[in-house]
Amino acid sequence: MIPALFLYYSFFALSLGAFCKKRKKKSYKIVGFKQGVGVLQSRNILETYGIKIKKELPLVDACLCEVEPHNARIQQLSEDPFIEYIEDDYEAAIQVMPYAVSVKPKGQEIPWGVKKISAQPVWKTCKGEGVRVGIVDTGVDLSHPDLKDNIKEAHGVLDCKNILDDNGHGTHVAGTIAALDNDIGVVGVAPKVEIYAVKAFDKNGRGNISGIVEALNWCLEKKVHVVNMSFGIKNKSFTLRRAIQALHKNNVVLVAAAGNAGGENSVLYPAKYPEVIAVAACGQDERPASFTSSGPEVDITAPGVDILSTYKNGHYKLMSGTSMAAPHVSGAAALLLSIHQMKAEEVKELLKSAARDLGFPKEKQGAGLVDVEKAVMSINKVRRGKDEGI
Ligand code: CA
Repeated sequence: MIPALFLYYSFFALSLGAFCKKRKKKSYKIVGFKQGVGVLQSRNILETYGIKIKKELPLVDACLCEVEPHNARIQQLSEDPFIEYIEDDYEAAIQVMPYAVSVKPKGQEIPWGVKKISAQPVWKTCKGEGVRVGIVDTGVDLSHPDLKDNIKEAHGVLDCKNILDDNGHGTHVAGTIAALDNDIGVVGVAPKVEIYAVKAFDKNGRGNISGIVEALNWCLEKKVHVVNMSFGIKNKSFTLRRAIQALHKNNVVLVAAAGNAGGENSVLYPAKYPEVIAVAACGQDERPASFTSSGPEVDITAPGVDILSTYKNGHYKLMSGTSMAAPHVSGAAALLLSIHQMKAEEVKELLKSAARDLGFPKEKQGAGLVDVEKAVMSINKVRRGKDEGI
């Protein structure tokens, strides 16, 4: 199935990718309707005010609308009793540091981050089989020899519908979660997990709320168990919040990069939302990375400095950022779900309770460093307890 799928996507991307240009400087607003306003009614309301729909966002009862700047109609619309909010289609960015080093691994190398979170001992029991992970990112290199067997489906939500990774970030994230356990390159935290890659970020690592929401909707349709979000945004968005709540309600484990803003009280959205596992980054020395965002919303720490993983065009690179930390947690969550069926909230609590305290303030490290082996031991303990009727 994969080769045919790949050929189709390659053709699709080649035929459309060439026309992938930056969105024209039009003004867009997201109009959020009150609960219970259906799609048809919302279309009628917008038509009444003469407002053109660019994209419908059924997951969040909202529409992305094209509006002329300083349009009086949008002011009138905001006073309509069926409207909950009107906001900008904010821009989000991937959370990677601007330096990267190309590497050519000899044979297969286990990256230090995978070792640090004790994923290896768990592979004796499972490698993430049967768990679906959605990656909302810049796309994934679908023909990468260290990833392709795990890529189940790919999708694009940008205007050009390109699905290929023209940045490299999404491929790097995918490798940390699920690079294949073979004799080349690297190996991911959960090397048998199923990847659902959705491109919502362009080659510069920029995306918009409307695209992210569409990508999350696709993940929900594909019934993914975990979603990795290695991006962040400073603005509070009602639209993104609604999308996050919708996926949480559907029992999806949501993992996001805390952000690379450094300093205090600097956790970005969506990591800042309580439904999401906010991941801070540490180095090999187990100290918080200088760039890692901190604040009371940080849940957990994972490796995020000089992380070796797959890169676009079949390559490998060392990259740093909370973007690199989050996929360690997504992979860890996938391993746990592969071993034992659990609710999304239980996965979060289990990862936090098993985390190793690194001795830094909670705002910096959250519960501490991810420890997959310990989390699995807790599951086995509960199972044994049940078997013995305790
Ligand atoms: Ca490999």
